[in-house]
Parts: sequence; structure tokens; C-alpha cells
Amino acid sequence: MSIARVEPLTTARALRGPFDYLIPERLAGIEVGSVVEVPFGPRRLTGVVVEVAGSSEIEPDRLAEPIRIVGGGTTPELIDLGLWVAREYCSTPARGLGLVLPPGTGTGGARTRARMEMLVRATPAGREAPADGSRLGSRQELVLRSLLEGEMTTGTLFQRTGADSSTLKRLEARRLIEREEVRVRRRPGGPEVGTAARRPPELSGRQSEAVAGLTTRLDHAAAAGSEVLLAGVTGSGKTEVYLAMVEKVLARGRSVIVLVPEIGLTPQAVGRFQARLGDRVAVLHSALSAGQRYDEWQRLKSGEATVCVGPRSAVFAPVGDLGLIVIDEEHDPSYKQEGDPRYDARDVARERARVSGSLLVLGTATPRPETWSRLDRIELPERVDGLGMPPVEVVDMREADPKSGPIHPGTMEALVGVRSRGEKAIVMINRRGFAPWLTCQTCGDHWGCPNCDVSLIVHREAGQLICHHCNHVEPLAGRCGSCGGTTLSQSGAGTQRIERILAEHLAPMEIIRLDADTSAGPGGHGRILGKFDRAESAVLVGTQMVAKGHDFPEVTLSVILDADATLRFPDFRAEERTFSLVTQLAGRSGRGSAGGKVIVQTLAPDSPSISHSARHDSPGFLEGELERRSVLRYPPFSHLIRIQMGAEDEAALDRAAAVVGERLAEALPAESTLLGPAPMFRARNRHRRRFLIKSGPEAEAAAPVQEAVEEMVREKLFRGISLSIDVDPQ
Ligand code: ADP
Ligand code: ZN
Repeated sequence: MSIARVEPLTTARALRGPFDYLIPERLAGIEVGSVVEVPFGPRRLTGVVVEVAGSSEIEPDRLAEPIRIVGGGTTPELIDLGLWVAREYCSTPARGLGLVLPPGTGTGGARTRARMEMLVRATPAGREAPADGSRLGSRQELVLRSLLEGEMTTGTLFQRTGADSSTLKRLEARRLIEREEVRVRRRPGGPEVGTAARRPPELSGRQSEAVAGLTTRLDHAAAAGSEVLLAGVTGSGKTEVYLAMVEKVLARGRSVIVLVPEIGLTPQAVGRFQARLGDRVAVLHSALSAGQRYDEWQRLKSGEATVCVGPRSAVFAPVGDLGLIVIDEEHDPSYKQEGDPRYDARDVARERARVSGSLLVLGTATPRPETWSRLDRIELPERVDGLGMPPVEVVDMREADPKSGPIHPGTMEALVGVRSRGEKAIVMINRRGFAPWLTCQTCGDHWGCPNCDVSLIVHREAGQLICHHCNHVEPLAGRCGSCGGTTLSQSGAGTQRIERILAEHLAPMEIIRLDADTSAGPGGHGRILGKFDRAESAVLVGTQMVAKGHDFPEVTLSVILDADATLRFPDFRAEERTFSLVTQLAGRSGRGSAGGKVIVQTLAPDSPSISHSARHDSPGFLEGELERRSVLRYPPFSHLIRIQMGAEDEAALDRAAAVVGERLAEALPAESTLLGPAPMFRARNRHRRRFLIKSGPEAEAAAPVQEAVEEMVREKLFRGISLSIDVDPQ
């Protein structure tokens, strides 16, 4: 007797499997990882086989049989990983498993399938026919002549020759052609920007040492995995080190996963891997069409591709015999998923490396304090081009004349210098739109979002006011709704205003803007970077997108306006974020032979993140930051769990929050601390409250918290109230 334990792929929390089914002879192909359709009471459900067992606690004659196998599933290794994610991040098995199944499985929408195409080729007789005087219609002859070049799909053939299927039928009847149905892979296109050398450069001494150090660890990883930090300053040639390691692991017959921050933002990085490794690379990301994603996934599962490059979700790539996981820019916040399951790809990678006996390499110029304190490291302290780090000038904006606007006169002078030398510059301001505040000068009223307690952002190009939280849009007002006043002031600056100021001062220099508004749509980001790449002399202005993962040697000046904007977030990671942003952007300057310079405008020149990044001093910053976290008991000295509640009815929310506070206090292990409920600003018309739990270094509070929350959400008091749990929130 063979029993399949099936976890239904449904989001209903009440339907918690797994449920046992008897595997009949006709479905003997069922194995762990199979996706099956099963009867469930009067309904049919899609589910995943998470275990195959020899017996069940239920009487065999009361067990139902699965109806059918729905199609290719996933591997046992990934089933375990999906269930691990569900447990670790307080999610449901269905959601955890959803991460490891072929794209499009069980989503209820149109199911993605392999694409089949008809391939046509000439038989030996068919190849002779046009020349040997056989009687052929003109279409038939055209078809056969085309096929002399080789086999092709019916689609291509029809297009080239104007033939249709009746022509092919007649040729087939005469045995002049053969047809075969084949599966085709829909492949994503190649890189759009950046040109990578196909042949590896000779590694520098430092790079070779790093590769040697990593190789030693690779040899030891097989037992229980191994982890190492590759701490290399920007421009130190980390990507070449990754590539050398990838080649080594492939040569040993094992496969590789390379994680990069959001793919839209890092087309160059992906392009370098593709250029060097060719077809062995599969790319998985959300900008692919459903068909492409499905096919790339299948190429990995079948072993046609042995390297997967992609953003956080690529950590679930279905490669077999994994040997290496690389996480590039490991400090990047995009590795944490914001929706349920709220997993952190860096921690999932750790688990996967442990189970598969792989080496995990975390690379960055600005390691997270957690990574720095926890891991062995290999360092690349110098730029590969032998140039020093660019000098950083900190401009204290507290002393600036407010009338001179958001760009300091000294900064503008430096930009004018870039123009006169025909060079390039990057200017970052971490806010899109034109201005963050619209205020009536007469009565002082200011425009806020009706759904969220935040101000509306002026988008002058579109003539709109937009909420950056809920995307509420209204036309840009010409007069005040309260007093009718017509003197309105647009204060503060976003990318659009900076773009305009730069255009006024630097004309005819080209100003190229990069933010979520200009780069929307597939390939938008690459198109803009490509334009900047090709320009003779230009300024790239934008949000933090401009600080990420690209390499323009001609940039001789990087400017950060309002560098401490991220410091004003009420978050214990604010310093860390600011440090990495400033350091990363500083690293974008002066990569070529012309050298470079960095200007940082700030209201907080003395904050550790600004002063250390100005000296390119990661170790110094990390030391201080770790000390601060130790005193405040923040990660890595504790684990955090955040519980967020939301409701339209504020009184009901407060009643429910009081109950949550009581129950959590009872459920938590003694050594954890519970903070809250703290009010948060209203968003999307929902009032919000937040709890924060600090627990010991092991996340032992997760299970009791989840249990308590699941119990509460079933109670009447919690109707209309949303509750989410985030383990290790970012
Ligand atoms: P990082 O990822 O550390 O910022 P990259 O790997 O992007 O650095 O390397 C910076 C630049 O130096 C890239 O243009 C890369 O092609 C080049 N580079 C890296 N290693 C070498 C080498 N050994 N010889 C010559 N050029 C190299
Ligand atoms: Zn809003």
C-alpha cells in the first residue's frame, strides 16, 4: 500500500493538510513533489505530494484516490525547503510550497504549459527532388528549397514561402518531408546595457587569493554547507571572483544559484553572467512572460541550464546537485519579501546551502552588521584598477543659504566643471516627483492624502498630486480648497525638480532622469541606463536606483542631495541603510582613469553613517553600529518579530490590539520583550498598530506567536481586522 500525503494548494487557513490518499496502480508515478488533483468532499482540489508513506492512520477503504497527476511538479529537496519557509516565517504550507512549484501551478489562472511546435525537415528524397526533375508545384519547390538550409518550424516555413498546411500535407504524402512535434523553450532576450568581455580577464593577485580561499571552503562545504563573506570595496572585482567560482563548481558537475538585487535594476550584472556562461545560464524574474518563466524553470529542472541568475525568488530555483550560492550585494533590502510568506532569501539560502552541502558566498562593499559579526570573511580592500577610493566632500546644508535651493552653489560649480570637461555625473535624490509638499500660503493648509496620513507629492509633469503610499491621484490644485487662496507653494525637492534645476544651469548638457516614473515598464530601466552609457557627456539624476549595480567608467562626479533622508526613518536600520547608500553611490564615481569625486549634502554631517562612508570606512562603521545594537538589543543580538494590525474602525482596532497585547504576553517565552501597541500612520484608509517582539538569538518566539495569532483571528473580535506577522522584518 502506498499513501500520498497531499497538501492542498489553497489559501484558506482552515484547510490545513496534509491529507492522506491511496495511490492506485494507474497513478504509480506519484512521488514527493508531484502536483495532483484530489477529491475533497464534494470538491476537487489541486495539491502537492509532500510525503509518500507505506501506511496511514486512516482505514484503507476510507481513503480516496487522487484523480490525476496535474503535470510536472518539483523536487523533494524543494518541498522540504517550501515547508521550512512556511514554518520559519509563520506562513501556510500552501504559500510556502507555492514558492517551489513550477511557475503558474495551482494559481487558478490560465495554466502555463510547455509550447509545442511542428518542426519540418526534408527527407533524403525531398532533398533530391528540386534538382532531379520531379514534378513539383511552385510552392512545393519553394518549400523544399528552403528546407535545404535545414529544418524549420511550420511558422517560419509558411512565412518564408507562402505555403500552407495543404502544401505540407501533399509533400508529406509523397514522403518528401517529415514533420515532428517538438517542445520549444521561450527564452528571454539578452542584456540591454553594458558590454562584458566574453573571455575572463586575468585575475589580480587579490582576486586570485580570494578564489583560492573560497575554493578551500568549497572543498569543506560538502558536509554541512559553509558560508563566507566576500567583503570587497566597490570596483574591487567581486563579479570576476564569482565567475571564477561558478566555473569551478560547474567543472565539478554541480550547479549554481546567483542572487542579485531586483533584476530590473541590475541588467548589467545579469548580462555579465550570460555573456560569460552562455546557455548554461537561466534567468528567473518577474519581468519575464509567464511562458518564458515556465520554460526557464523547466530548463533548470531538466539540467539543460545549470546556473540560475535572478532576484530573491531564484533561491528556489529547481537545480539539482547544488554546489554554490552567490548573493551579490548582500546588504540589499530587496532580498526580503514584503508579502506573505515574508521570507528573507539570505536566510533561505543559508538553509539550502546547509541541506545541499553548498558554499554560500555573500558579497558586498557594505556588509550588514549581522553578516559582518557572524561570518568569516575574505577581503578585497582595493579597487581592481589600482586607483584609490574617490575623495568625499561632505557639505553641511545647515549652514547653506536657503535661498540657493536644494543644490549647494559649490555642488553646482563642480557640476559645471564636469560639463566643461565633457564628462559625466550622477546626482541622487531619494524622492521622486517634483515637490513633497503643496501648501496654501494664505491659510497654511496643506494637501494630504484622504486615505493615508501623509502629504501628497506634486508631480508637475503629469499635473497631478500623487500619494506614494496608496497611489491616490488628484489633479494639481490651482487654488486652496479651504480659503480659496491662489498662492500655493510647492516646497522641498524630488527628482523632477532637480532635473529641471540642472537643465536650467547646465544646458545644453543632457540630463537623464531615472526613477520609478521614467523607468516603468519592462526594460525601461535598461533603456535609460543605456542612454546614459552612450551619451558623450551627461548627468544621470534619480532616486536610489542610480546607486545600484552598474559600472560607468566615465563618471567623474557623484552627488548625493539630502543624504540623511533615510536617517529620518524611525527604524533601527536607518544608519545601516544610509551608510550603504552613500558608500555605494560613492563607489560609482571615478572608476575610469579620469579619477573622480563625491559630494554629499547633508543636515547630519556628524552621524556615523555619513562620516564613516565619507572615509570609505566600513569596518569602523560596523564596529560602532554593532556596539549600538548590542546596547539596544537589536539584531544580531536578538531576533525581531513584528506584528502589524490594521482596520478601518479605529475603536475596534484598539480593542483588538489590547487583546493581542494580553495574549502575546502570556504566550511569549520569558526572555522575550513585547513592545506596543504603537500607533502607525494611517495608510490606505486603514488605521494601524504595531507590536514588536525582541527575543533571544534563536527565533524561539515564532511558533508561539503564530499559534496565538491564528487562534485570535478566528474570534469574532477580529472581524474586519487584518493581522500580519513578520519574522526578522527589514
Ligand atoms: P565590484 O562588483 O566589486 O564592484 P566588478 O566586478 O564590477 O567590481 O569590477 C569592476 C570593473 O573591473 C569591471 O568593469 C570589471 O570588468 C573590471 N575587472 C574586474 N576584474 C578585472 C581584472 N582582473 N582585470 C581587469 N579588469 C577587471
Ligand atoms: Zn494614500
